[in-house]
Amino acid sequence: MSAAYDENNIFGKILRGEIPAHKVYEDDDTLAFMDVMPQAEGHVLVVPKAASRNILDADPATLGPLIAVVQKVAIAAQDAFDADGVTIMQFNEAPAGQSVFHLHFHVIPRREGAPLRP
Ligand code: 5GP
Repeated sequence: MSAAYDENNIFGKILRGEIPAHKVYEDDDTLAFMDVMPQAEGHVLVVPKAASRNILDADPATLGPLIAVVQKVAIAAQDAFDADGVTIMQFNEAPAGQSVFHLHFHVIPRREGAPLRP
């Protein structure tokens, strides 16, 4: 069972406009912005506007529009950064690698022979 959603997380603050972010896409349901510590050039984070801690507590109705934007951003990022592929990652709870507790997908353009930065 996941812990409860805590709105006092960094992506909640970005969504409310309380801290800045380099936004690359926004619609009624979803926001995408650049990661401040990119694991590769063009690393984008895609988040739902709905309050979800991670995929474990997300309303299924949130996931459809969200994954459609993940696809849109992945195609755009691959094109914009002339990448050979795109890694998409998503973590749930700290033991699985989650550090910000608002649901998000990492979209990372990849170049042949270029490992991700830690
Ligand atoms: P997680 O490990 O939770 O899947 O990934 C969280 C991501 O959020 C990390 O890649 C980290 O670099 C990014 N991040 C953390 N704080 C900020 C911030 O204030 N602004 C932005 N744009 N990204 C952040």
